[in-house]
Amino acid sequence: MIEMVKRKSRNLPDVGKIEIEDYSFSYYDEDTRDIIFEPRVYHQRYQRSFDILINPRWRKDIKIITEYGCGEYKLMNYFKYFLSLRKINFVDIDAKLLKEKLPFIRMCDYHYSERRFNPLQVTAFEGSISDPDDRILNSDVVIGIEIIEHLYPDTLEAVPYVIFHSVRPKIVIFTTPNADFNEALPKFKGIRHPDHKFEWTRQQFESWALNIILRFPEYEVSFFGVGKGPSGTEHLGCCSQMALFLRKDISDQINRLPLLKCWCGKHYQGGPNCLMCHPLIPFGICSYMTKSKKFENIEENYLIFYKEIHSVDFLYIDDDRRTDEEKLMEIMICNMNHEILYGEKSCYVPLYKIISTQQFGVLISEEEAAEILRNYGFLVQKQFVKDDIGPVVSEEKLCVQYIADDEI
Ligand code: SAM
Repeated sequence: MIEMVKRKSRNLPDVGKIEIEDYSFSYYDEDTRDIIFEPRVYHQRYQRSFDILINPRWRKDIKIITEYGCGEYKLMNYFKYFLSLRKINFVDIDAKLLKEKLPFIRMCDYHYSERRFNPLQVTAFEGSISDPDDRILNSDVVIGIEIIEHLYPDTLEAVPYVIFHSVRPKIVIFTTPNADFNEALPKFKGIRHPDHKFEWTRQQFESWALNIILRFPEYEVSFFGVGKGPSGTEHLGCCSQMALFLRKDISDQINRLPLLKCWCGKHYQGGPNCLMCHPLIPFGICSYMTKSKKFENIEENYLIFYKEIHSVDFLYIDDDRRTDEEKLMEIMICNMNHEILYGEKSCYVPLYKIISTQQFGVLISEEEAAEILRNYGFLVQKQFVKDDIGPVVSEEKLCVQYIADDEI
């Protein structure tokens, strides 16, 4: 099922149509007397973030992702094979947890079989989302999955300033529980988790996010539900809710200002394109910054609020000189060969069957695959195909035409 991003009741700005296939479902389970979400909602939140970032409109521009409140580094599993990605920064206030769960990011430096096509550096920092840090200022994407509801008011107040003014990424994704949905949860008692400082209804979350784009008008925002409830709960929305902020210049390569990030102060004055000095860029009312956890022994000019816990370089195939397109093409051809019946002279292979590998998962969208295949002279068009499983129903899918060599 296709889910639309925007909630129609509100006059939200237009970020373009973003369609995401949502195969999730849920049901009330008699035995556990609870709702069973398939897949689990935490998985859906990360999968949804991945699905958004894989959008061909911006995926090639995504090189650095910072996740705040990363907890157990779950994001790692979803993003480690994201082709364009060069760096993931994990930031969490809980140093003990970060250290305990380090094996989840360490694994990438010894699983030789899991090599990437490109380098990827993964770093874990102890730090707060309310503090900026020079090392994350160049992030293209900031993600905060189920973190804001854990923040005290002063910390929460600093978030927009740090993210939308200091880091100023191309894309920001936040999720938080949807309080409207609480009444559908059979085991719900007052609050979903003892550390939650609040749980917002859809209207409260939207109003928080809309206030951010009022203060930082270079962004626009859209809303998603994550974790569809069982039938009969549609009016309550989903279990979790997501806000997607896009910087308006994200697909406007021509008019993009070469904004530099610098910290101006008594020792340093930024240049004409410095974000801080630029008089035309509004930065809202909040000027809060804790400095409380600023680490010692650093040069005055630099903002170092986070403490590096560990950094690891993912193994990659460094002697491979092929372009990304060539590598993808090789995978698609290999997959296509598996799909073709022995002796078949000509047929159509659905693109969704050839764009993933068991090891790497889905590598590109069908549209991107179509573009690459067409560049290599393949015919790509919609065809009716039968699904392998379930009742025999014909569906129209984007397919590539295969013609056996001796026919060409
Ligand atoms: N994002 C992970 C997930 O969805 O599985 C973990 C979410 S967990 C509910 C919230 C995380 O936010 C915890 O790991 C907590 O330590 C972290 N956290 C709380 N306050 C924070 C702050 N001010 N800055 C950074 N992380 C914070």
